[in-house]
Amino acid sequence: MKENEMYHVLLYYNFVPIEDEEAFAVEHLEACKNLGLKGRILVSKDGINGTVSGPVSQTDAYIELMRADKRFKDTVFKTDEHDGHAFKKMHVRAREEIVTLRLNDGEDTDPNRLAAPYLNPAEFYEAMQDEDTVILDTRNDYEFDVGHFRGAIRPNIRNFRDLPEWVEENKDVLEGKRVLTYCTGGIRCAKVTGWMLDKGMDVAQLDGGIVTYGKDPEVQGKLWDGQCYVFDERLTVPINQTEHVIVGRDHYDGTPCERYVNCAEPECNEQFLCSEENEHKYMRGCTHACRVDPRNRYIMEQNLSEEEVTRRLSIIEEDTLATSV
Ligand SMILES: [Zn+2]
Repeated sequence: MKENEMYHVLLYYNFVPIEDEEAFAVEHLEACKNLGLKGRILVSKDGINGTVSGPVSQTDAYIELMRADKRFKDTVFKTDEHDGHAFKKMHVRAREEIVTLRLNDGEDTDPNRLAAPYLNPAEFYEAMQDEDTVILDTRNDYEFDVGHFRGAIRPNIRNFRDLPEWVEENKDVLEGKRVLTYCTGGIRCAKVTGWMLDKGMDVAQLDGGIVTYGKDPEVQGKLWDGQCYVFDERLTVPINQTEHVIVGRDHYDGTPCERYVNCAEPECNEQFLCSEENEHKYMRGCTHACRVDPRNRYIMEQNLSEEEVTRRLSIIEEDTLATSV
């Protein structure tokens, strides 16, 4: 690889049968390591779902390697530019399924059998403005909170597998409307929309997901507010090329914010949005309990004395002995 070479981050999935996924995972990890890639890939009997980073020459070589395998030759790779790796390590893991949904007995979903119509970015942009549609975000609550399509419904789920249960409980907001679904790269919609069709719902999905929508030269990410959460070291990527509306809110004071930190209490490690100022004020603890925990990493990093901790707590009207949050 060359000096100062640009890096690419790839995001892709393909629902294709993989026999012996355990052996495939071992082999594929070796191939990825040989190319100098880093990232996370899941493989199962029903397909592959991955995101990897590397110098462009190496990610290009990876795409070629995948296309040379007839199982993966039609895989769509979404590509982002970056100035380095977006991951620390390279993992390839064999799983039961590449995406999991908790379904009732007798229900099943297979994107190759049944999936909602795929709308390209221009069609999705048009459809969103139709008053007979509702926009359903199929991602998790914390992903929604830093950015989403304007007017989209936020299912309060922490994990994708819980989406069917949410849909069942909130049928009234979806019924009688055409439901437009979207997710980061498209895989979650591919999985859940078949199940929604089986339930008799009128549903269509954004082809290629949010990241494809943001790169489309015609729509340029219009009607997207905030940033798009991604599962790598970048944390968020921009989508709307025409305007920037901040929808993220500071965990402590609710002011507009798009800056993520992890809670300083190592066991909590909760990711949340907060300004630099509030990070110092609240010693990066998401709750009082996390702030005063003896393992608080912020207090250690900053080498704060006990007096200083007490002083900062008094500013936010908390004291060291308080146990309530
Ligand atoms: Zn915490």
